[in-house]
Amino acid sequence: MKIGLDCDDVLANFTLDLASVYNQRYGTRYNHEDFVPDFSHFERLLGLPGIRNLWELFQDHSYNLSMKPVKGAVAGVKELVSLGAELLVVTNRVKTSPQITQQWLEQNFGPVFSDVLYGGNGFSKGEICRQKEISLFVDDLPQNVYNLRDHGIKTLVLDYHWNREVEESHFIKRVLDWEDIVQEVKAGR
Ligand SMILES: [Mg+2]
Repeated sequence: MKIGLDCDDVLANFTLDLASVYNQRYGTRYNHEDFVPDFSHFERLLGLPGIRNLWELFQDHSYNLSMKPVKGAVAGVKELVSLGAELLVVTNRVKTSPQITQQWLEQNFGPVFSDVLYGGNGFSKGEICRQKEISLFVDDLPQNVYNLRDHGIKTLVLDYHWNREVEESHFIKRVLDWEDIVQEVKAGR
């Protein structure tokens, strides 16, 4: 079974840790719920100088490499591999270089992913999954979940405050954590 995994907020604990990293570096006092992974939201929240700070942060290799994995992701990925799943990372990351993303993945998960693919550049995640014959995907962003559904890819939506409007359907199932993801894979085999 081929399973596709999003990187930010599925493997890498990007958004939940972002406010504390940002506050520490720029002396602000945002709460972690203030940050959601949506660029227009950041523009409204931070204004132009804040957006400049954010891009500076995103291009900092030490920040990117020190990002923590999502809770339970390391054990969950290991378990999926032991179940015989082939795992591919499909990300829309533009802010971090592919080399740094690759290094972060290897440093935290080992050489377990058969490929790391980038959406955007004219190809959506749904199109990439169809091409690569990925049968199950895990993501957190509503627009990605709907795009995957529209391409007939079953998707587990990892629960966060920014995706609660996504409703379950034949193609969409909400999961609360990595243990849930593993259970869903076991149940679907
Ligand atoms: Mg994500």
